[in-house]
Amino acid sequence: MPAALPRLRLTAFIDGAFVEPAGTAEALLNPATGEVIASVTPASSEQVLTAINAARRAFDEGDWPRMPVFERGQILRAIADGITARSEDLALLECVNGGKPITGARREVAGAARVFSYYAGAMDKFFGDTIPVAENILNFTLREPLGVVAQITPWNFPLLAAAWKLAPALAAGCASLLKPSPLTPLSTLLLAEIIAGCGVPKGIVNVLPGGAGIGQVLAEHPDIDGISFTGSTAVGISVMRAAAGTIKKVALELGGKNACIVFDDADIAKAARSAVGAAFGNAGQSCSARSRFLVQKSAVAPFTQALVEELGKLKLGSPLDPATTLGPLISADHWNRVDHSVRAAQQSGATLLAGGHRPDDLKSGNFYLPTAFGNVSPQLPLYQDEVFGPVCSITPFDTEAEAIREANDSAYGLNGSVWSRDIGRALRVAKSVRTGMIAVNGLPSASSMSVFAPFGGYKRSGIGRELGMSALAFYTEEKTVTVDLS
Ligand code: NAD
Repeated sequence: MPAALPRLRLTAFIDGAFVEPAGTAEALLNPATGEVIASVTPASSEQVLTAINAARRAFDEGDWPRMPVFERGQILRAIADGITARSEDLALLECVNGGKPITGARREVAGAARVFSYYAGAMDKFFGDTIPVAENILNFTLREPLGVVAQITPWNFPLLAAAWKLAPALAAGCASLLKPSPLTPLSTLLLAEIIAGCGVPKGIVNVLPGGAGIGQVLAEHPDIDGISFTGSTAVGISVMRAAAGTIKKVALELGGKNACIVFDDADIAKAARSAVGAAFGNAGQSCSARSRFLVQKSAVAPFTQALVEELGKLKLGSPLDPATTLGPLISADHWNRVDHSVRAAQQSGATLLAGGHRPDDLKSGNFYLPTAFGNVSPQLPLYQDEVFGPVCSITPFDTEAEAIREANDSAYGLNGSVWSRDIGRALRVAKSVRTGMIAVNGLPSASSMSVFAPFGGYKRSGIGRELGMSALAFYTEEKTVTVDLS
């Protein structure tokens, strides 16, 4: 373990304390070096049931759901401050465990603190309606906490995903069972330690490291009222099925295969600059990665040239180096999956414009060169499937209608962007593309990641919205109260 890593408790956090390990610890590898950085013991089946009971008891009998929302807000504010106070430790964990370049990891930690600050002041602005149903009747609605919620996060944004789920759930008064990805649990375990020091009653936040088996138990368990899952569409489907047996409220943030539509009147240089951030941020391991570039025919040559030049400016290397902009992929298995998609694209006739292999100067770790393909037809798997790596494709189009059709030719509907100086056209296209989020002529990552704005997808990209006031709708039930005034 590198000396600078913070000391952590590497077991489940249940009912206000880290438990004694029960089972075999699993080693975590640094994706940049292949070295073991820590070993975490997954929660045992018995510990998972203990956690569910603790959360149920804390919700049914404890103070948290009944506490004045302003007081709960003050505790959320303390958590935001706690994250800020431990920001270097958290950023280092994201960097060493997830392979994230340290500069981006610091931004993510600041983002996680901002999420808790936002929800600290949100719940006293989220309330019911008064509804004029009849003259002699007073009818109003109350927002009540949903109850015990299971929250399952992926490996690509471990701390942010945990913050996006925990902060609104806590603000609403829920009790949480949070299961991080077995690949990147470290920052979530430190978050549990921070939360424990901020006055959240025991049993309200429980963190259960481990894999699919725990997720399955949470999705099925009758004492859990709702489940918020972020991960792949395939697993989202099985979570939804498992949750159906007990009619849990379900929120799903799933995969994406997002299009960036560039018309020939766009600022091509700006579009290419922004495209690189949008497609290659987090080494392309992002549900929001805009990896399908649809480019109007007359702009294909200048856009391709600008894009390839921008790719050349990305700096691969140690995630600990503040100058690094492209880190490694999460695991050797994932490296092989990405490489397989690249080989398949080559064999299917797409034109390799850049990258397509491991960098010559980085032999250890899971590094992959930023890769671009031209001439990619919508029928190819590269166009349809989420590669989840630093790989993008360029597909030419002629007309506005064709651009819309090609953008919508996807099972997914998460994110996207449109580039045109004709604002009428840009907005027409933005309205016609079936995605939960879309950016017009801007830095798409900035516009889609604001804590104030809802985040989520159409189609097989998910159900429900995270962030903004929308997240509070998921973590609350709406009760209608009717009073006879006669
Ligand atoms: P994954 O679906 O393999 O795993 C996600 C989580 O689900 C992990 O914690 C995993 O342990 C757990 N899990 C696995 N099998 C389960 C089961 N049967 N029941 C319950 N839980 C189970 O996804 P991943 O590889 O960790 O993450 C990458 C995926 O996440 C990509 O598809 C990406 O697009 C998606 N993602 C979506 C968003 C979004 O907001 N839409 C954000 C980040 C990642």
